[in-house]
Amino acid sequence: MIDTRTPRIPGQPTGDLTPELLSTSVWSDEDVARAGIPVIDMPFVTIGGGMGSFVMVDLLRIAGVPASNIRALSNIDHPWQTYEYLTRCSQIPRGERIRSDSSGCPDNIWAFPSYAVREAWADKTVAPLASVVLEPVFTDYWTPRAGQVFNALGREATRIKYPEMLARGQVRLLRRRRDGGYFTILTPPAGESTTKRVAYRSWYVHLAVGYPGLQFLPDLQHYRERYNDATHVVNAYEPHEHVYEALKRHPGTVLVRGGGIVASRVLQRLMEDRVNNGARTHIHHLFRTYVSGTHGDSKIGRRKGSGGFAYSGFNWPKAAWGGQLKEQFERLEGDERAALYRKLGGAHTPHRKLWQQQKARATNEGWYQTYQGVVTSVTPGSRSGITTAVRPEQGSPYALDADFIIDCTGLEGDIREHRVLADLLDHSGAGRNPLGKLDVERTFEVRGTTNGFGRVYASGAATLGGYYAGVDTFLGLQYAALTITDDLAAQGFCRRIGIGRSTAQWWRWVRNRPVD
Ligand SMILES: Cc1cc2nc3c(=O)[nH]c(=O)nc-3n(C[C@H](O)[C@H](O)[C@H](O)COP(=O)(O)OP(=O)(O)OC[C@H]3O[C@@H](n4cnc5c(N)ncnc54)[C@H](O)[C@@H]3O)c2cc1C
Repeated sequence: MIDTRTPRIPGQPTGDLTPELLSTSVWSDEDVARAGIPVIDMPFVTIGGGMGSFVMVDLLRIAGVPASNIRALSNIDHPWQTYEYLTRCSQIPRGERIRSDSSGCPDNIWAFPSYAVREAWADKTVAPLASVVLEPVFTDYWTPRAGQVFNALGREATRIKYPEMLARGQVRLLRRRRDGGYFTILTPPAGESTTKRVAYRSWYVHLAVGYPGLQFLPDLQHYRERYNDATHVVNAYEPHEHVYEALKRHPGTVLVRGGGIVASRVLQRLMEDRVNNGARTHIHHLFRTYVSGTHGDSKIGRRKGSGGFAYSGFNWPKAAWGGQLKEQFERLEGDERAALYRKLGGAHTPHRKLWQQQKARATNEGWYQTYQGVVTSVTPGSRSGITTAVRPEQGSPYALDADFIIDCTGLEGDIREHRVLADLLDHSGAGRNPLGKLDVERTFEVRGTTNGFGRVYASGAATLGGYYAGVDTFLGLQYAALTITDDLAAQGFCRRIGIGRSTAQWWRWVRNRPVD
């Protein structure tokens, strides 16, 4: 139960945001007290409570910040909850392998022992080690199973006392405080507070709110709304198990749209259901951009491709996390940076032997066909199902009939779709970067939001387009957290993680000892 016994100015003890507060960009302590909103002093708050918040808190704890000085304000119970939900929907249950490599360890900032070493140890086999030595030339990249990552995160969460730092609720907004720092307004779960809102008064705020929203292709969104049909047209990031179940019960046709890793996963599932579970599914696969061979700039961003797909092991070339490309991104501003993002971007998927074999078999047997084109309309079919009208780059327009459509194209939305980010743009001086996302400095401080000694930092997908490309990856979230920790150490909030501290803390990690 949150203690709401903060002194209030008599007369208006509503405990809620008032029109005056909502329309004022800088609040005083008196303003908040007048609204009857209880105040909790907390030097550091991180908003989101997902993977980005977790690695931030992990770094701060390793840098010596006590648990009592940190709160993760979140609408989820454990940091990997949203990630697990999205991976499960997009066909990566706990037993399947994720995309990042053996050293992308959000539970272990040292990345040693890596996941491959840990799996080899646990399963008493050298296979994972052999794989990481031979990858990617002689074998596909080795990647950990989702379940291994979740179990490791659970261990680290307990070690750093994450549950003690979690404050459940929905963050509504954050505003500058007149005397420095910020107020973050949390709406606690019903029954857990005697007031509607609680204000966290802090020096530092970190934002890691994940994806602003699900983004449907406009034509599919239009179909769903117009025909009130969210059963036959689904997004791969929302629960859609009913599609696979229906296809197992009755022969049917499914149209898959998109050429990224999620499309690969969905195809894998459809093909395995056909081969192993008796489904008689026919698959149409529509690419907007059809890649048939090696493509891209000869110096940068060159990729192999075939059958519609472009291939790349990870979201970005490895040099973007810590090499020439990282340095290049750091140097570039404005349009030049946006141009480099465009050069390296686009949909792609890892080249995995299993997927190639499955597709080859399905193509040979005639139940998997690929198409290229831009969709001009999606309408109910003349007898049943859904008809997609397509305009190809070459040749005449054509139509594809299907019983189900699975949209595997994207998860991102505009940052304004997120209420907290929209408020930050409107009231706290934040702006947009060359890709239209939240503009952050090289230190991951949100540009324009400094308030006296106070700082707002941000990491994750909302900051894509900044000086570091891999922000929406485990390694990128850790890089951001380490950079923020260094910045906070320079301001005296925590210790610097130098060689001595790092070694001592690693040894604690190995023995699963508490950080302090
Ligand atoms: C399907 C999929 C697979 C991926 N696989 C990999 C991979 O293999 N390797 C890799 O490195 N990266 C991967 N990523 C990318 C990235 O690492 C993850 O998405 C990661 O979860 C991002 O962390 P985050 O903290 O930014 O977002 P999340 O983990 O999504 O956490 C953000 C949290 O903030 C909460 N929140 C938002 N607004 C509020 C609010 N107002 N109040 C309270 N809480 C709020 C949300 O509910 C959410 O739980 C993958 C992403 C997806 C979608």
